[in-house]
Amino acid sequence: MQLDETQFETFVFGVGIGIGACVLAMAAVVRPSKASATQRAAKEPLLKTAVHREPLLSTEERLVARLSSQFNLSTDTLVRIQRQIIVDMKRGLAVDNGAIKMLPTHVTHRPKGTERGSYLALDLGGTNFRVCEVTFDGVGNASMLQKKFKIEDAVKTGDGEALFDFIAECVKIFLVENHGSQEGAKLVESRKWQLGFCFSFPVNQVSIDEGSLLVWTKGFTASNVVGVNVVKLLQDAFKRQNLNIAVSALVNDTTGTLISLAYTKPNTYAGVILGTGSNCAYVEKVANIEKLHGPREGLDEMLINMEWGGFDDAQVVIPRTKWDHALDSNTPTPGTWTFEQLISGMYLGEVVRLVCVDLAETGELFAKCKLSKEMRTIYAFDTAYMSAIESDHTHDLADTKSILEDKLHMPGSTLVDRRILRTICALVGTRSARLAACGVAAVVCKMNKLSEGCIVGMDGSLFELYPYYK
Ligand code: ADP
Ligand code: MG
Repeated sequence: MQLDETQFETFVFGVGIGIGACVLAMAAVVRPSKASATQRAAKEPLLKTAVHREPLLSTEERLVARLSSQFNLSTDTLVRIQRQIIVDMKRGLAVDNGAIKMLPTHVTHRPKGTERGSYLALDLGGTNFRVCEVTFDGVGNASMLQKKFKIEDAVKTGDGEALFDFIAECVKIFLVENHGSQEGAKLVESRKWQLGFCFSFPVNQVSIDEGSLLVWTKGFTASNVVGVNVVKLLQDAFKRQNLNIAVSALVNDTTGTLISLAYTKPNTYAGVILGTGSNCAYVEKVANIEKLHGPREGLDEMLINMEWGGFDDAQVVIPRTKWDHALDSNTPTPGTWTFEQLISGMYLGEVVRLVCVDLAETGELFAKCKLSKEMRTIYAFDTAYMSAIESDHTHDLADTKSILEDKLHMPGSTLVDRRILRTICALVGTRSARLAACGVAAVVCKMNKLSEGCIVGMDGSLFELYPYYK
């Protein structure tokens, strides 16, 4: 659960200042006007190459046109995607095996801002693992202590029990650091805590504190966890560490983003993640959740964890390039989570790398450089490099040259090479942002919030740090 309000960027749809954001966001999806095209030309490095005032080589122009035709999504396509997301949302609310899973979270209320007390929270599901202690003052303010831990690939892909032991050990380290010196290690073990577990993977949730993992995503494959109640796995690991912690809530990061922003902004109706992965949770009427089991009396709304990363796995509406297919075939579960692969931080850099390697092999890019071991290494092109390359405003793209030389060990690039590389980054990044916008537009339309307005919480390094993404 991300509870520090400063960590959020919000999109406001609707009245007042929201109208501006709404019109901008929707224009990109529904009907880009001449004005919005002009704004993009002023902002986007992709289009900036066209106003560099240097003559473009015709081979470069031809290459850029060829790449653009593969990555650019037409307005018609974006509208079709948005509509299909709404169709799949409705189907996912009715059946268990929809293309978008639409998982009931069993979160039936949003915070009022009057909740108080200190709680532990864990954030697992991507690049970093975080242990947090959050204190609510009951008048709308939350403060947070947190510690980040890196999860090694060996832990992500090893034994499931060892993964949960690692988590419990991290919690113990956090508690000893923050409470041990004052209260002594014994008290760390005896003090009773309530903990919220933010576990950002698809879960079949049967109550607020019970849910079994449906499938691992984002590079996790730890054994003996799929099909098992992850709250019990965590609770057992705490027992092995002699920690007196009750795991009282299981949510994912989208739900956490939504409810923690709602603590201070009650008009929050959706939470979107654009980080290692991509996903969205939103507020649905219980009456619309046909597949919901159990009693419904007195329940008006429930948050739905969409798991939109699985949208269009049948590959019907979104045109994909051969590089998208190549990336997909190297994942642990080919043919699944393909929407996430087109959007999220874990994958964008890898698409760029695959395009570069291909063009280098045909001699259209980096003709004077030798392809380095790094450039040939899967996932070695970090999405953060794309941010740095798109932020490079030097006349000779010197920052891009540094990334090529220092990070990717590719000396000898020409300015044309670097311009093409920047164009590839812009194409892949823009496609991601437009697809994410299709998702947000679909959710806001599904909730009928377009005219009334609502707040959508956004979290994740891709959204926060990638220039032009917002
Ligand atoms: P998590 O999803 O694990 O909660 P983050 O929200 O920090 O973590 O997202 C991590 C992802 O963001 C990684 O895939 C990383 O490549 C990407 N990322 C990190 N820094 C940047 C950046 N400056 N620009 C674009 N993407 C970034
Ligand atoms: Mg996160």
